[in-house]
Parts: sequence; structure tokens; C-alpha cells
Amino acid sequence: MKKYIFDVDGTLTPSRQQITKEFNTFFISFCFDKNVYLVTGSDYDKTYEQLGETICYLAKKIYNCSGSYVTEKGKVLYTSEWTLPDDAKNFLTEKMKESIFDIRTGLHFEDRPGMCNFSIVGRNANTFQRGVYAEWDIRTNERINIAKQFNKLFPSIAAKVGGETGIDIFPTGNDKSQIVRDFDKQKDIIYFFGDKMDEEGNDYPLKERLIKDNYNATFHSVDSWEDTFEILKSIT
Ligand SMILES: [Mg+2]
Repeated sequence: MKKYIFDVDGTLTPSRQQITKEFNTFFISFCFDKNVYLVTGSDYDKTYEQLGETICYLAKKIYNCSGSYVTEKGKVLYTSEWTLPDDAKNFLTEKMKESIFDIRTGLHFEDRPGMCNFSIVGRNANTFQRGVYAEWDIRTNERINIAKQFNKLFPSIAAKVGGETGIDIFPTGNDKSQIVRDFDKQKDIIYFFGDKMDEEGNDYPLKERLIKDNYNATFHSVDSWEDTFEILKSIT
């Protein structure tokens, strides 16, 4: 069975924004008679806001939080129960106390399915405070240094610098590659579209897993949603 897997940001939409009108109309008709699966690091509310009700309903499954939260027509099929272990949380709390950056806005640990976002300045920071931290971080490499120390100390958990102010913490392997559990090596013919397939990118783990596990898969590394649009027009 042919199955189409799409990343969202930069593949179906401009980053963090809504799908454009023209592509929306086309993509809805594409979803009608094809098996479409969506996989993104964002949460469900963000995907719904970006793609709208119709696409979210027509997609066979939506994998949010890199596959740690799975829904079908809005119904939750799977959610990861992972939470940040105490010793890891204590380590990060110590790092927060040690940091000489002095703005603290609260909500320093934000739990999401399958991951935790850690931030020295705090998730309550306004745009200005975020900007001040981002500049500080560029000068001092604070987040990179914390992530490096963390990854040495906790080999079964991964810390990755994400966005402007945070560090994403998740169990090793809780990336997009985890969605292969729903696909069949023998029966499925997979087409995977993503804009971050290079080794550092968040589409890479899924690509790598599909290749390593000998899936019948074709990869479309795109530069933008326009690129995806052109490719889809040529195959329908
Ligand atoms: Mg992307």
C-alpha cells in the first residue's frame, strides 16, 4: 500500500505558519484518495492551527511531538508516559542556579508528551527578555555547554538546543524514527517528504531508520512547501 509521510514546518507550510490557500485546496484533494501521515515536533494544537480541520481529519494519523503523541481524527491513539527523571532535573536546576544570567521568569521546565523543554530564562519570558537571553547565549554558548555536559552524564537521555532559549530533553530514540512501528516493511511503499533530512536535521532519524531497516521508501528532501507542491503535482 502506498503511504505518504509529510513533515509539516518547511514542508507543507512556511515555518510555524499556516498552509497557503492555493496549496491547501490542492492538498485536501490529495489527502482524499491517498494515505497521508503527518509527523512533526510541534504539538497537536499547533498542527491544527497550521493545517486546519479538513486536513487533520483526512490524514490517516498525525504524529505530534515527533511521534510521542499520536492521533487519528482527533482521537488520541498513543501518548508517551516519559517524564524527566529526578537526577536529570536536579542537574539542570543546579545549572540554572550557577548561571550568572539574572533574568528568571518562571516555568523553567515544561513537560510535553515524550519530552521536557528546559529554559534558564523561563517560558514566561516576553519577547524582549527572550531576545536578551538569546544574545547572551550566543556570546557564552551557555546552552551548548549545558547540553554537552548533560549528554555525557545521562547517556540514555538526549539534550538538544532548540529554538531561541530552550533545551529539548527526551529519551534517546524518541525522535521521528519512532513512527516506523506503524509501518510494514513488506507491504508498504513509503514516500517521505521533509525539509530537514541532512544529518543534523529532525527528519534525518526517520530517514536513517527507514533505510537501515530496509523499508521500501523514497525520500523527497524539499526546500519549501512550494517544492513539495511541485513534486506532488507531478505525481498526481
Ligand atoms: Mg520541517
